[in-house]
Amino acid sequence: MPEGPEVRREADAIARALAGGPLERVEYRVRPLAARAEALRGARVSAVAPRGKAMLIAFDCGLVHLSHHQLYGRWRVSGAGSEPDADRTVRVVLATARRAAVLYSATAIDLVASRDVDAHPMVSALGPDALDPSVTPAAIGARLADPRFVRITLGHLLLDQRFCAGLGNYLRSDILHTAGLRAQARPRDLDARTLSRLAAAIVALPRRSYRTRGITNDLRRARALALRGVPRRERRFLVYDREGAPCWTCATPIRREDAAGRGWYYCPNCQPGIRLPRR
Ligand SMILES: [Zn+2]
Repeated sequence: MPEGPEVRREADAIARALAGGPLERVEYRVRPLAARAEALRGARVSAVAPRGKAMLIAFDCGLVHLSHHQLYGRWRVSGAGSEPDADRTVRVVLATARRAAVLYSATAIDLVASRDVDAHPMVSALGPDALDPSVTPAAIGARLADPRFVRITLGHLLLDQRFCAGLGNYLRSDILHTAGLRAQARPRDLDARTLSRLAAAIVALPRRSYRTRGITNDLRRARALALRGVPRRERRFLVYDREGAPCWTCATPIRREDAAGRGWYYCPNCQPGIRLPRR
């Protein structure tokens, strides 16, 4: 499933593709929306601004397209007449005279008036988006102190879109590693300095991944590894998907465990775990 940085890069590609002119072909191949596609013909895209993993495309006619990838959804950008992926089900086509953005396989799709976006179930419960430039580590720090979240383990919290939108599994592991924490810790167990290190990592890692097309490893290290011919998938992450490989910092083998039903990866030496208060 794509995480916030991947969705934001898709948004950039859609914005570039559709910036050139009015929509000439609009198809919603999902039953309740098919008849409304006509309302977008001739409209121009005014903004493509995801929130977390939800894609929002605003048009100058006052309507906003909303969709969520869930597990299999994917946008592809191509020439106006083509549908580049023949193996998947086309759900939405938005095309100018030259270029098209095609949404495949997603099932959570809607078209609403811009005034109704904030109340829409696809976005109404979302926390701040770590990739929104106005979101600061201090704002994330305030959420870590919020009574709704202080008792939730970080393994759950970092996947909870109500806490912070756009984080997913690879970001969870690499954020925890950057903060020197394990998935079992809860915000209430942490001192102020550790909380601010965690808040900084929650903001920094998604932005690094967005800028670098998916690299969360230290950039100087990733570049040096690339020069030595290390394949991208082996140098991309700090700890995620590296079970058994040596920690970049201390060479201890990376371990994998389950947290919130999904695998998370950590260095047992750099992330020693905190002594939890006895209950
Ligand atoms: Zn280590």
